[in-house]
Amino acid sequence: MRGIVKFIIAILIAAVSLVTYWCNRQENEFTGQMQHVDMTVEQEIALGLQAAPQMASQYGGLHPDEQARAEVNAIGQRLVQSTRVSETPYKFDFHLLADEETVNAFALPGGQIFITAGLLRRLSSEAQLAGVLGHEIGHVVGRHSAQQLAKAKLTQGLTGAAAIATYDPDNPASQTGAIAAAMIGKLMNMRYGREDELESDKLAVRLTGEAGYDPRAMIEVMRILEEASGGARGPEFTQTHPNPGNRIAEIERAIQQEYPNGLPAGLVQ
Ligand SMILES: [Zn+2]
Repeated sequence: MRGIVKFIIAILIAAVSLVTYWCNRQENEFTGQMQHVDMTVEQEIALGLQAAPQMASQYGGLHPDEQARAEVNAIGQRLVQSTRVSETPYKFDFHLLADEETVNAFALPGGQIFITAGLLRRLSSEAQLAGVLGHEIGHVVGRHSAQQLAKAKLTQGLTGAAAIATYDPDNPASQTGAIAAAMIGKLMNMRYGREDELESDKLAVRLTGEAGYDPRAMIEVMRILEEASGGARGPEFTQTHPNPGNRIAEIERAIQQEYPNGLPAGLVQ
């Protein structure tokens, strides 16, 4: 009898998690993708602003060179102002971080975008920097953080349900079933994360091109990241992002799709 009650509770928890997830399905106005998010744009912006100082302090805080910081922000703002991104409700800030060792760039939900000095000094052109920032803008307008949070909530609900269904108080070792369920949940998120990265690469190609930068600089960025990952201290960008080598082919395809008749002349390198 106890087993049946446990089973029913587990089914109910799983059902509520799934229904909540599926009811929060909506079309992303920028990308046109159907996605599951359960927070508003205002909540995304507030969350990003709240987390920004803590995030910056993990990478040595903002870079002391005020002019370098202003230049990074200016290139980011050019990407926003000269593309459809300016029509979105997000408020963008582009921050240069002091950390010289870490090779990384990342975006918080709502428009707070960061690049480390360690990555910036490896870049050799304005278009490459635009490519990196364009990729991070892609994460924001793609609402990837909000999507990941909704997925994490679903996974948590399903894992909780599995733990209840498989938990045997007489034999706590049966928790292995719950652990396996948690691992499956993690794998699921990782795969979705890869798709987000590829979508951001595609958006970076589109945004850099629209802003007058050569989108092929994205390919150079991938080569720089690949090279940087050969060092003793692997760049975090390649830990949180898929293998740069695999991304080059996808970026080349995206450029082909955006510019079937070839790239226009006079793009900024
Ligand atoms: Zn990314």
